[in-house]
Amino acid sequence: MFKINDNYLKLPGSYLFSTIAKKVNVYKTEHPDRQVISLGIGDVTQPLAPAIIDRLHTAVDEMADARTFKGYAPDLGYEFLRTAIVEQDYKARGVDIAADEIFISDGAKSDSANIQEIFSADNRIAVCDPVYPVYVDSNVMAGRTGIYDPETGLWSDVIYMPCQAENGFAPEFPQEEPDLIYLCFPNNPTGAMINRAQLQEWVDYANRIGAVIIYDAAYEAYISETDVPHTIYECEGARTCAIELRSFSKNAGFTGTRLGFTVIPKDLKSSEGVALHSLWARRHGTKFNGAPYIVQAAGAAVYTEEGRKQTEEQIAYYMKNAGIIKEALAELGYTVSGGVNAPYIWLKTPKEMTSWEFFDYLLENANVVGTPGSGFGPSGEGYFRLTAFGSYENTLTAVERIRNI
Ligand SMILES: *Cc1c(COP(=O)(O)O)cnc(C)c1O
Repeated sequence: MFKINDNYLKLPGSYLFSTIAKKVNVYKTEHPDRQVISLGIGDVTQPLAPAIIDRLHTAVDEMADARTFKGYAPDLGYEFLRTAIVEQDYKARGVDIAADEIFISDGAKSDSANIQEIFSADNRIAVCDPVYPVYVDSNVMAGRTGIYDPETGLWSDVIYMPCQAENGFAPEFPQEEPDLIYLCFPNNPTGAMINRAQLQEWVDYANRIGAVIIYDAAYEAYISETDVPHTIYECEGARTCAIELRSFSKNAGFTGTRLGFTVIPKDLKSSEGVALHSLWARRHGTKFNGAPYIVQAAGAAVYTEEGRKQTEEQIAYYMKNAGIIKEALAELGYTVSGGVNAPYIWLKTPKEMTSWEFFDYLLENANVVGTPGSGFGPSGEGYFRLTAFGSYENTLTAVERIRNI
């Protein structure tokens, strides 16, 4: 008689975004006359840029011709894409990363979930709180998180690093020593960023205690300030302690097209002296058969002059929305942060409302949907996330409705 991996049964039942969808559907059924606007989505809405579409078309044509047809992609991904990444994301910033340290994948969600497989089951993880739920859930599936306490929303074996207004939404070194440290900057959900000196402290800390930092830089393209790092490898010593995750989803609209990559420097070794690069290469080669050629070709188009210009325009479009939301809420007396280096606005709920009370309040009084901060972790309670991924028109309307509450 087969048995399941019962770690899956430990996962808390209701998933944040399905709870939101249910509540919104009930509201819409009861109020069919009202037009609900979502500022809760973590997905892009602008179509793929013309340079990307053009390259997709020509790549499809190549697949129809025996002379240019492509079968399985090389294990690490196509050289043309890895070279473009090295040149523009790393060398251009004075960072030393080689093309064979880059693993092309189908996105950062799966990489962030899968990367834990190459570490011991008894390694302790540290996460920011609030946090992108995938990091913890994938470690629950791996049996690394201990017991869940529904009262506090905390796992007994996870080390939490609260990020709230008091510490500028920046994690502090935990009291217990972690083995794996998940950091995400610019941050989802808080929209916060840390500066280069702060990230350098994390790199020094990880090297000192022999931990690995898993650095999720999915929102790198949204950075507007100058003193903040675009990649963790801008920090000295990061090559011996950091794995970086990148995605084409938020910077170039590939959420439905799927493309990302993971960087593992060859200098990154375990306490036994094993290079993580070789373990991930083994895992990648065994459980992943490559991102599609046409998608990798389209990904390389992001690095062309035209592609860069067009994707930068899309990011500017979203960031204009972010500015509109942030400014209006601040004017109305809300305490807001984020929205400068990330498409997320993080606000303190007014009048001591809980995150879910404010969700209902906003839905009923402004017909606007956002995301309750408590859904990202206990320290998100009393906060609320709005995103800049809607259309300009909807953003203006939503803000106007909030003004008129
Ligand atoms: C959107 C997002 C990603 C990107 O995931 P993909 O699988 O590449 O679409 C990764 N990390 C965070 C924190 C995100 O919000």
